[in-house]
Amino acid sequence: MSKLSNISTSIFTVMSKMATEHNAINLSQGFPNFPVDEKLTDIVAQLTKQDVHQYTPMAGYPPLMNKITTLVAHSYQRTIQSETEILVTTGATQGIFSSVQALVGNGDEVIILDPSYDSYEPNVLLSNGTPVRIALNDDYTPNWEIIEAACSEKTKMIIINNPHNPTGKILTESDFEALEKLLEKFPNIILLSDEVYEYITFEQKHISVHTKPLLRNRTVVISSFGKTFHITGWKIGYVVAPEHLMTEIKKVHQFLVFSVNSLSQAAISEYLDIVFVDNIGDFYQQKRDCFRQLLGKSRFKLLPCEGTYFQVVSYEAISNENDVDFCKRLITEHGVAAIPISTFYENEKDLKLIRFCFAKDNATLEEAARRLCEI
Ligand code: PMP
Ligand code: GLN
Repeated sequence: MSKLSNISTSIFTVMSKMATEHNAINLSQGFPNFPVDEKLTDIVAQLTKQDVHQYTPMAGYPPLMNKITTLVAHSYQRTIQSETEILVTTGATQGIFSSVQALVGNGDEVIILDPSYDSYEPNVLLSNGTPVRIALNDDYTPNWEIIEAACSEKTKMIIINNPHNPTGKILTESDFEALEKLLEKFPNIILLSDEVYEYITFEQKHISVHTKPLLRNRTVVISSFGKTFHITGWKIGYVVAPEHLMTEIKKVHQFLVFSVNSLSQAAISEYLDIVFVDNIGDFYQQKRDCFRQLLGKSRFKLLPCEGTYFQVVSYEAISNENDVDFCKRLITEHGVAAIPISTFYENEKDLKLIRFCFAKDNATLEEAARRLCEI
C-alpha cells in the first residue's frame, strides 16, 4: 500500500497524452503555445556564456530575490525582506508542496475549497494531514459561513486559489472582509494563498493577500513565473511568507531541491528589469474575448471567466455523457482536448462542464472553435 494509493495519474497528463496520440488541438493542460518573448530568449543565450552554472544560495539567487522584492512592491505596495521572506521554488507546485509539508502535521485539518486544483489534497495527505473539502457556492464564490463552521482548533490551514483554477472566479473585497473576520476568531490558522494567475484578471482587478495587512503576516503566498511570463516548462516560481513560517518552509526546500536551476533564476532576474507585468491581463483578455466570441456560435454554454486562462463551458445541450467520456470523445471524434471539471472535486460530480485553455495563438483558437462549432 503506497501513501497515495487512491490518487491516480493527473488529469493534465492523461488528457495531454491523449491529445498527442490523436493529434488533437490541446486546450486541456494549461500552457501557452505562442513564442516566448525574444528578449527573454536573448537573455538566456547571453547568460549561457557567463558564470551562472553552479548552485545558487539555497533560498534563491540574490539578485532575483531583490527583483522579486521590487515586483511585489510595484504590484502590491508591500515591502518584503528578500533574505527572510522569499523562497524561489521549482514552480508553484514545489512551493505549495514545501509549504504544506513544513506547516501541516499529523492529524492537522486543512480546508480545501471544492472544486480545486489537483495538487492540494495529495500534498496534505503526504503530510499526514486531513483534507476537509468545503463546496464553493453554485456561482463559485466561497461560502464563508460554512467554512467558518468547519474551522476548529484542529484546523491548521485554509488553502485559497485566487484567481481560481478551473472556474476563473476571483475573490472580492467582501470575501476578504469575511476571511479577515474568520481568521481573527482562529488565531492559529495559517492561510495558503495560491495566486499563480495573479496577473491574469480582466474587468475586475486581482486583490492579493499581499495588500491585506491583517492577513499577510500569517499567509504563504504562492506565485509562478511560469504563468506570468508564459514559460510553464521552466518550472520556476516563488513563495512569500513571514519569517517565522518561511524558516520552516526553507527546511523542507533544502532537502527537496536545495536550490532552483541557476540559469533560469539569472535569466528571470535580468528579464524583470525590462518586462512589464501590468498589461498581461489585457493580453489574455483579448484571447478570452476572441475565444468566447468564436464559441458564441456553438452549442456550448459559456460560464463567466473573470481571470486565469481557462474558459469553462457546459455541454448539456450537446450530450448526456459524463464529462470524462465526453472529453475523450471530443478528442477522438472532434480533435479538441479539454479537461473534465468533475476531476477537480472530491467526489466526482456529473455537472456536464469542461475546461478549455485559451492561452493559444489566434490560429489555434480559431481552428479549435471551428471544430467545436460543428458539434
Ligand atoms: N496552482 C495552480 C492553481 C495552477 O493552475 C498551477 C499550474 N497548473 C500551479 C499551481 C502550478 O504552477 P507551476 O507550473 O508554477 O508549478
Ligand atoms: N496548472 C495546469 C492546468 O491547470 C497544469 C499543470 C500540470 O500539468 N500539472 O492545466
